[in-house]
Amino acid sequence: MNYRKGPDRSQTQLLPPCLEDYVAAEAPVRFIEAFVEGLNLKGMGFQRAELNATGRPPYDPADLLKLYVYGYLNRIRSSRRLEAEAKRNLELIWLLRNMVPDFKTIADFRKDNRVCFKEVLKQFNLLCRKLDLFGAELIAIDGSKFKACNHPKRYLTPEQLTELLKQVEGRIEQYLEQLDHNDLEAEGATPQRSQQELTRKISALRERKGQYEQWINDLGQSEQRTIGVNDPESRLQKTGQVGYNVQVAVDAKHDLIVESQVVQDANDLQQLSPMAQGAQRHLSAPALKVVADAGYYSASQIAACERAGIESYVPANRHASGQSKGTGFIFPKESFQFDSTRDSYHCPGGQELARRGEALHDGLIRIEYNNAPACRNCALRGQCTQGRYRRIYRSKEEAAVERLAQRVKQCPELVVQRKTIVEHVFGTLRQWGYDEFLTRGLAAVRAEFSLSCLAYNLRRTLQLISLHRLTEAIQTMG
Ligand code: SF4
Repeated sequence: MNYRKGPDRSQTQLLPPCLEDYVAAEAPVRFIEAFVEGLNLKGMGFQRAELNATGRPPYDPADLLKLYVYGYLNRIRSSRRLEAEAKRNLELIWLLRNMVPDFKTIADFRKDNRVCFKEVLKQFNLLCRKLDLFGAELIAIDGSKFKACNHPKRYLTPEQLTELLKQVEGRIEQYLEQLDHNDLEAEGATPQRSQQELTRKISALRERKGQYEQWINDLGQSEQRTIGVNDPESRLQKTGQVGYNVQVAVDAKHDLIVESQVVQDANDLQQLSPMAQGAQRHLSAPALKVVADAGYYSASQIAACERAGIESYVPANRHASGQSKGTGFIFPKESFQFDSTRDSYHCPGGQELARRGEALHDGLIRIEYNNAPACRNCALRGQCTQGRYRRIYRSKEEAAVERLAQRVKQCPELVVQRKTIVEHVFGTLRQWGYDEFLTRGLAAVRAEFSLSCLAYNLRRTLQLISLHRLTEAIQTMG
């Protein structure tokens, strides 16, 4: 018995002579071809979507977009790898009709069309809506931290930048002295470094000096304490990792991403309303239920959702529920009953906490309620406060927060269901290795994340319905 052997390498016509025969009828690459061909790239703002009358013919943006969609669907993201695959991957040879753009052209396409990729995801989601893949009733929102293209050690404070600035200034000084010295010795021995070399070095150092000064100035004008040298728009996260905060809103029917965003905020407190309203817009759903974890618990965001007709389900976080910051347990705020007719709170000790005054906190006006004399002699004080008396704060949005608490109490299963809807998205993207951005700057990582979300939705859709049905739906989109 012999091992299996392939045919002789010198044998001719090993591959089908026609490109069309390279790709199976049910290959997803055929959908990519049909989908991108059906897009109005000019309307979406893609550059070079209209040909100039003169000059060297550029690559069709449709071909480069097909290459990126195929790459992200198959875990090929870097421009150099996409170029290599375009040479040897039969599906890409079919998709690009044997054209092989170089890596710079591929990278430039992504750079020049950053803002357009979100629109591509939107168009794909419109197709999903047409196929009734969105339930448009319940949305789960979640966020994660994806690594930026910036090592944590290359993240500097103003003090470190000032030190680097001094070093650069010292080196510029040295080179200027050498230039003067060269002038003096012009007629004597050959100088260590040529005039040209020194001028080039001084110019590069001056450029770096300007950059450091700019960063020190930027840091002085913002609340940020550090800046990334490789990607100044990335942020140092609580975990010690440098990255961006990525957000998704996922529809509960088939766990497809409806809305995605990348922000610089270290937490999710300001993301509930923008994400929920983004999903509402894309789904054209006047009423929507939205569930998120306690990290999204913000009175102003909850109230903004309510004003937009969105019912939010967010469990209260530790501090909002009134628990002690230490280890001890104290009565949560929910144990205090608000009396709207008397504008006061009733505490677990049966006392009335009256309105005392207003103060600005985190940009919001909040009203303080307390009853210091009653607390002084109260037997429950140990369970109620670590201070001399208990204070209860009420913001203007408190009524919306109370309605939210009622909803969460009535439907606790929705809060549990959140995990099953949304966490699969981040699990998958991490498994694909998409939790590290390859590009730098907020606009660039937003483009990358839109492509990642498109790949996720496309992969999931292909599991739900046949390629034939998907392609048919494109043809009826018009
Ligand atoms: S400590 Fe004050 S607020 Fe707390 S139960 Fe006693 S009286 Fe009420």
